[in-house]
Amino acid sequence: MKPAPFAYKRARTTEEAVALLGESDARLLAGGQSLIATLNMRLSAPALLIDINGIGGLGGVAHKNGKVELGALVRHAEAERSELIAKYAPLIARAMPHIGHAAIRNRGTLGGSIAFADPAAELPACLLALDGEIDAHGPKGKRTIRAQDFFKGLFETALGPQEVLTGIRVAAAGKDMRTGFAELARRHGDYAIVGLAASARGDGKKLSDVHLAYFGVGATPVRARKAEAALANGNVDAAVAALDLDPPDDVQATGAVKRHLAGVLRRRVAAQLMEARR
Ligand SMILES: Cc1cc2nc3c(=O)[nH]c(=O)nc-3n(C[C@H](O)[C@H](O)[C@H](O)COP(=O)(O)OP(=O)(O)OC[C@H]3O[C@@H](n4cnc5c(N)ncnc54)[C@H](O)[C@@H]3O)c2cc1C
Repeated sequence: MKPAPFAYKRARTTEEAVALLGESDARLLAGGQSLIATLNMRLSAPALLIDINGIGGLGGVAHKNGKVELGALVRHAEAERSELIAKYAPLIARAMPHIGHAAIRNRGTLGGSIAFADPAAELPACLLALDGEIDAHGPKGKRTIRAQDFFKGLFETALGPQEVLTGIRVAAAGKDMRTGFAELARRHGDYAIVGLAASARGDGKKLSDVHLAYFGVGATPVRARKAEAALANGNVDAAVAALDLDPPDDVQATGAVKRHLAGVLRRRVAAQLMEARR
């Protein structure tokens, strides 16, 4: 199928993109890897596409003030190859190869993935597991939203209709940082049936500040808090048994299958967190 007709404008600044979003039924175009597919399938038919790829200052990866800052227009492929991300945001580095295929990662952007908020996507869960922050720019200026307050529902975020996501930020990994990542998909590169992104502080076999963020188990990525507490006590079996998840059935699997797979992933990720490597 072909998309319904739409107008196209290239924004040169974030302010211009914000102003253009004030026009009726306008949508931002970043990597286009999700948006163009929805247009082609006529799942959405916006009147105006605002191309943000020419806006300076929305790219780049930086390590400053104990944080890693990632611009909204950083492509997945760039993040996958970034030495800074590998060193200071190793969970994101671990997750990157699981996002789609190389062609999708060449165009898809970090900002697009977070703003689209697919419940089976890797990056939103990583951001939740890392207690990350999202920067947004709208008609009233700039604001920062914590990841835990950002994902509101199915493909729904805290972004207002006229806000542009400009970047994301996570605390830079220190020496005691442990991360874990695993997902089960029908084929490598497909959206996950169930996935788990995790971070913790480690001291030998002792874990603290455990964050387990599941994806593919509901409308948004979700923390498994009872399992986090059990894992912090060093009890992997108790963490697996702590079933504080109730995934609904979806097109990929029944809720019961997802609950079982979530336990399998919990065991795998617990083993990764116990290793003294990042
Ligand atoms: C075959 C296929 C397989 C895929 N597999 C996976 C996968 O396994 N895991 C995964 O996570 N993703 C997957 N994707 C999606 C891919 O990661 C997309 O790149 C991503 O979801 C959207 O990023 P984008 O830059 O392409 O955004 P676009 O498609 O351009 O935009 C997506 C949505 O976000 C909005 N948006 C984009 N940028 C901003 C911004 N800066 N501020 C506010 N709103 C914005 C747009 O208006 C639009 O509504 C797959 C895509 C395809 C086609």
